[in-house]
Amino acid sequence: MAYRNLLRNQKWFEFADKVKQRDGFVCSNCGKGGNGITLQVHHDSYVIGRMPWEYPVSACHTLCSGCHAREHGIIQPDSGWTLIEINDTGGLNSHCERQGCRQEIRYEHVAYHPAWGYMVAGSECINHLTIEDKMLCEDSLRIYKQAASFVDNHPLNRSQTKKGQSYLKCTYKHHVIRVYSESGNFAVQVAVKREGVKFYDYSDVKQVKVDNAEQAQELGYIWMRGMLSNDKKETEILRKMWVSLRKT
Ligand SMILES: [Zn+2]
Ligand SMILES: [Zn+2]
Ligand SMILES: [Zn+2]
Repeated sequence: MAYRNLLRNQKWFEFADKVKQRDGFVCSNCGKGGNGITLQVHHDSYVIGRMPWEYPVSACHTLCSGCHAREHGIIQPDSGWTLIEINDTGGLNSHCERQGCRQEIRYEHVAYHPAWGYMVAGSECINHLTIEDKMLCEDSLRIYKQAASFVDNHPLNRSQTKKGQSYLKCTYKHHVIRVYSESGNFAVQVAVKREGVKFYDYSDVKQVKVDNAEQAQELGYIWMRGMLSNDKKETEILRKMWVSLRKT
């Protein structure tokens, strides 16, 4: 299973991009940039409780990861972290960077602290995130694991439209997920049957950038769950996951 980005904090990425753009995509300390150089955004000072993207661009600088590490102290702060992204590395392919931990981890929780920079932490070491971020981590991983187990337990079957177009399908409760594939490109469609209604309500067919039919099915599950959910927060998480996974 390949590395997948499950969740992305869009606000942070947009803000960080503005800072890097202003600095010409090079480190403002040593001038390094280009391939192989990881550029990070450093805050000159910080205000507790303020999200890392809520600062003026002028209060931030682009640094390479080497200069950034030197810029910061050696004791990791234990509060003020914001969740930037969650990745599934597909196995125990990463490790927790929390001081004193170094445990091998599968799910990377990338957190940002304005006075420290970035840290990759495992599911057990994310306690120093804000409560909202912690809940977001737990909820996203729970949904992602449910999607993965749904795919395992609902094999796709081949079927055909009336016009003769071939597709793969599976059912979720009494709803249907369809996966179309053509020369390595995948698309999904969901058909929802509302209670008391005789007919299926077919959604548009949406292209997804995935590697195989199962990943497209997983996206179908996330999309459908978003359509069926009445929980506003869950819908928001599902929407973010859809965006992250669809582009991966
Ligand atoms: Zn540098
Ligand atoms: Zn910094
Ligand atoms: Zn850890």
